[in-house]
Amino acid sequence: MSKTFEKLQPYLDKAMAFETARNLFEWDEQTTAPFEAADYTSKVVGIISDEYRKCLINDDVRKLINKLKEEKEQNELSSNERAIIKELDKTYKELESIPPEEYRAFNELTSVSNRAWAKAKKDNNYEYFAPYLKKIIEYKKKFASYRAKKGQEPYEVLLGDFEECFNIKDLDLFFDKIKKELVTLLKQVSKKSDTIDKSYNYLKYDLEKQRDFCRYLAGYIGFDFNRGVIAESAHPFTLQLHNHDVRITNSFIEDNLESAIFSVIHETGHALYEMNIDDAVTQTLVGTGASMGMHESQSRLFENIIGRSEAFWTPIYDKLVDAYPENLKNISLKHFIRGINKAEPSLIRTEADELSYSLHIIIRYEIEKMIFSGEADVDKLPDLWNKKYEEYLGITPSNDSEGILQDTHWSYGEFGYFPSYAIGSAVAAQIYAKMKDLMPVDQYLLDGNITPIREYLRDAIHKYGATKNTNQILKEVTGEELKADYYVNYLKDKYEKLYNL
Ligand code: ZN
Repeated sequence: MSKTFEKLQPYLDKAMAFETARNLFEWDEQTTAPFEAADYTSKVVGIISDEYRKCLINDDVRKLINKLKEEKEQNELSSNERAIIKELDKTYKELESIPPEEYRAFNELTSVSNRAWAKAKKDNNYEYFAPYLKKIIEYKKKFASYRAKKGQEPYEVLLGDFEECFNIKDLDLFFDKIKKELVTLLKQVSKKSDTIDKSYNYLKYDLEKQRDFCRYLAGYIGFDFNRGVIAESAHPFTLQLHNHDVRITNSFIEDNLESAIFSVIHETGHALYEMNIDDAVTQTLVGTGASMGMHESQSRLFENIIGRSEAFWTPIYDKLVDAYPENLKNISLKHFIRGINKAEPSLIRTEADELSYSLHIIIRYEIEKMIFSGEADVDKLPDLWNKKYEEYLGITPSNDSEGILQDTHWSYGEFGYFPSYAIGSAVAAQIYAKMKDLMPVDQYLLDGNITPIREYLRDAIHKYGATKNTNQILKEVTGEELKADYYVNYLKDKYEKLYNL
């Protein structure tokens, strides 16, 4: 470690401690805190956030960053340290660009607007949420303009917060390719929708047994219970404090067997990524996944490509049948596999199947782009939303709660986030194609042996954390940068077989 980096280290450590505390409060709020705690606890969280900011945004840190960016200093740094400086420089510029009073006002706004959104969704009242949304968009436009390079669109700045490798032009090409192929494929599949029965999925499934089975599944895939916990929350999520404390949640529905099963596989995919990050990198600014998209690629690889395959279920399906003989004894493995892969257009993104999922994302991407280029007026968003659903999925929401109001992201000011979900699916397909060249993936799954798959992902992707970006990892692992073709081909191949197209 260089002398200059040594001077920076205490600031980084302190910021990390405040960040950890903030994350713990978030975990607590989502899982165990009582309903009325939020208003009071938010004061504590506000102070912790301010302290976090002060640790990183100050003259000492600024001078140290500038020095460490010099060539002579760079030569003395390890590759991990160089990655940390790059990330710190980015974070510094982002935090510094926003005046503290605007930053605070925005945080206050989003805590109120999130509740307004929840009420609007419950009451099916978009007009109630629209004024908040307008304010959030104004702030986001302003914040983006502070950081925009000359000629750069505000939306592109926001996209960069989640995925630095892809600009609007790249994403337009990526989504155009997906859209063209998938809209047609989904239409063909919809016509044959009644050839697959999954009525078994909606019978009553005892919740305690669901909890047991999901815990078993997480462990089967490789979740390390000595370094992680599973709790329950309204919407499943993953939160990591460091590589020895990774937390996931799940939620259970009595008359929907699949819901919790695929949620726990998904979150376990995220958890494996975080648990496998190198000790040398954890608890640093690059001690997490390479990007949102890269993270989603790992959760979706397990949830969809592996978790919905016949090979994966062959060794363990009997265990599920044993838990629920009254519902499943007449449902063969083949029947179950067809059921869990059934695709049909639906209105709600989080409940969408693998085939239609990206179309939900494309709709959000196109609308976000229009919002930030000034082409879409906030008051007209519900109409725009409904038209796009009709165009791409062939269905129209009957109200705004199941339309424009369904997602929480915008109420927090998270614009530019949605594309990561689709990028994740595409990255997963690209990596999976490579894995199949390198190892007998299906045979491992049939043998109930997930270890070689997990170890491969650890060594190729997970251990590096965010010291490399998405395209760097993809190039090293697959020889190519992100390409939509693998994803499109994977889906075509799968659904043409499933539906005899
Ligand atoms: Zn996820």
